[in-house]
Amino acid sequence: MIRISNIKLPLEHSQEALDAQVLSCLKISPEQLVNTTVFRRGIDARNKKSIFLMYTLDVETTIDDELLAKFDWDPNIRKTPDMAYKFVAQASEDLQERPVVVGFGPCGIFVGLILAEMGYKPIILDRGKEVRERTKDTFGFWRKKQLNTESNVQYGEGGAGTFSDGKLSTQIKDKKHYSRKVLNEFVDAGAPAEILYVSKPHIGTFKLVSMVEKMRAKIIALGGEIRFGARVDDLHLEDGQVTGLTLADGSQIKSKHIALAIGHSARDTFEMIHDKGVYVEAKPFSVGFRVEHKQSLIDKNYYGEFAGHPTLGAADYKLVHHCNNGRSVYSFCMCPGGTVVAATSEENRVVTNGMSQYSRNEMNANSAIVVGIDPSDYPGHPLAGIDFQRKLESAAFKLGGENYDAPAQLVGDFLKGESSEALGEVEPSYKPGIKLTDLSGVLPGYCIDAIREALPAFNRKIKGFAMDEATLTGVETRTSSPICIKRDDSLQSLNTRGLFPAGEGAGYAGGIMSAAIDGIKVAEAMALSINGDK
Ligand code: FAD
Repeated sequence: MIRISNIKLPLEHSQEALDAQVLSCLKISPEQLVNTTVFRRGIDARNKKSIFLMYTLDVETTIDDELLAKFDWDPNIRKTPDMAYKFVAQASEDLQERPVVVGFGPCGIFVGLILAEMGYKPIILDRGKEVRERTKDTFGFWRKKQLNTESNVQYGEGGAGTFSDGKLSTQIKDKKHYSRKVLNEFVDAGAPAEILYVSKPHIGTFKLVSMVEKMRAKIIALGGEIRFGARVDDLHLEDGQVTGLTLADGSQIKSKHIALAIGHSARDTFEMIHDKGVYVEAKPFSVGFRVEHKQSLIDKNYYGEFAGHPTLGAADYKLVHHCNNGRSVYSFCMCPGGTVVAATSEENRVVTNGMSQYSRNEMNANSAIVVGIDPSDYPGHPLAGIDFQRKLESAAFKLGGENYDAPAQLVGDFLKGESSEALGEVEPSYKPGIKLTDLSGVLPGYCIDAIREALPAFNRKIKGFAMDEATLTGVETRTSSPICIKRDDSLQSLNTRGLFPAGEGAGYAGGIMSAAIDGIKVAEAMALSINGDK
């Protein structure tokens, strides 16, 4: 198979036009072309008046070897690499002890799946409920303000990314093509096949829910076991080795191989492992607000007269500004055609995040506009970042009226330093509701200064970004983990053998894709460790 990159075609083109490009590129006849599949399709919208599609294709011909030799000078024509996933180990027939995975978010799902595929029959524990029950609880909170602190946007089957936009992009280096394994598993579980080739794949909330169920079924069919409502409250340690754990109901499980894939919001579990002496460090994260515009404004900025074209879909953006006070402000978790959601897992706190459906056809575009902070902003204790987050979330709860409505302000008023009294053309989508106010007291002054400087700078990149009637809703605090549960080269905790910190909560991932990939790496490390122990 031959991989051809940088094939450029107009936004609207036929299959024949694509084939013609292949024939001309390889200088072959139609009879020599056996098959063409799209490996990647990107959009070149640098010139809004003529938008192109950029293809990378995998092509099969009757003379592959001959062509590869002939074009060995051309970096755009290469042998298609072998991207198939290869298992690193296999469980022995007389497996003595089952590994345990704590957390069934994207990371825990892939730790569990890969271990199950290698025959290790993992026991997987999640504090939340199975996904259909969890959906009722989460939507119940959004509609009726009834928060279930163990079953919500953060906790339960599928993890934090279940009610999300399901963006699958990542910037991590992936020499072993782990992301291909993740995407293939997602497609097998019902994700749209296009995620295999579009440059910015996304899935959307409703599809994610049924995919998570299918992945659970696969793990169980392979010999894994998954328990919900199974919160881990204690770890058993002997001479620096983990030997098991205790669940909230008092039951115990013995295992010398435990993956901790608990996400960035399991603050009680962070406290528990820190109290047990597991090595933990404070790490930087970001805080800010969700901004909302009409999606049509973003589409127009990026796609001009092609805005709304079905192949382009809803436009997204990525912005960054380095401020005079040394802070960086950037857009995070942009959700085109989506909604802002209530994402607290703790009572009397308000946290924002964003989600969308596969269609991305809601009225508004939203993203978090966040300011980078680091442990020097909350010195003194490895877990001090949690107190910092809680303080902001409690302040937002108070400012929102102490009933889970979120405090909100128009961008124009925020820039002028005036409280907002009435909405304009952008209706905030946050459920259960918002209260118009002055957001400037809810974040530290250096964050407010930085966001006030960044919004006009962003307006120079996206015309209308700092328009008076765009809205801000706060606060966005769960951008990444406030701690790192440090691990060594064998992916075990620095001071606790057999404990494998994994995914976003441990500080080794940020987003669905990187959490899933970290899950594969941790499963491999656990399998090698189990086999080495024997
Ligand atoms: P999590 O997904 O947080 O999973 C951790 C799991 O551990 C949870 O299910 C929890 O119940 C369980 N758990 C915690 N403590 C315990 C315990 N003591 N015992 C047992 N179980 C426990 N990322 C993207 O890439 N694209 C997006 O579009 C996107 N949108 C998002 C939208 C929202 C609303 C949110 C909240 C997040 C979004 N993210 C998105 C971020 C993404 O969801 C996370 O990066 C990802 O889920 C991290 O995966 P994880 O498996 O490491 O942790």
